[in-house]
Amino acid sequence: MVVDPAHGGSDAGARGAAGVLESDVVLNFARVLRLALEAQGVRVLLTREGNQDPSFDDRSMLINGLRGAIFISLHVASTGPVGTVRAYWYGGVTGDLPEAPATTGARAAAGRPAAATRAGLILWNRAQESHREASRRLADLTQIQLAQKFRGSPEVPEPAPVRQLRTIAGPAIAVEVSSVAVSDPGQLQQMARPLADSITRAVTDFAAAGVAPSRTN
Ligand SMILES: [Zn+2]
Repeated sequence: MVVDPAHGGSDAGARGAAGVLESDVVLNFARVLRLALEAQGVRVLLTREGNQDPSFDDRSMLINGLRGAIFISLHVASTGPVGTVRAYWYGGVTGDLPEAPATTGARAAAGRPAAATRAGLILWNRAQESHREASRRLADLTQIQLAQKFRGSPEVPEPAPVRQLRTIAGPAIAVEVSSVAVSDPGQLQQMARPLADSITRAVTDFAAAGVAPSRTN
């Protein structure tokens, strides 16, 4: 599977008054998560190993060649009750997808012969569409674990137009920890291990339930 510490490089993400940078925190979370997953025999790739900033497509590319892999993007919110965690699957509100068939121009572009011969490029921007049910199941399982470990977290996940998820051709979720507004950065560090345990449990539950059908309910 692929674990994505979001942001990086010149994009630090959310910044807290205590000097907390989202890009640093999620990299630490990702490293701890990788260890927890590997301990369960799960093979893990990180989208960045240090303070780089790969593009959305670079990150998507890491998983889109892997069959049956899942993708988890890690974020830290700028606000929200400290110590809570939320899982999201990709779901846009109307108009959030600039290339959705809102305009005839988009349809026309998709039908161009040059584009038709490169179907992979057309599908790239909509890669997540056929995986949304699986992503939702993964988000459900993850939020169940998060709600148990992090008091005050929601019971159920939500759909959100997370840009990174749109181009993932597989089960994909974002997990967002609150928040960079902590007064003591150690509060976030202490969340790394229970966060890793929660996600690892959800991933193994998801795998045990079977990944294949995109619509089972
Ligand atoms: Zn973020």
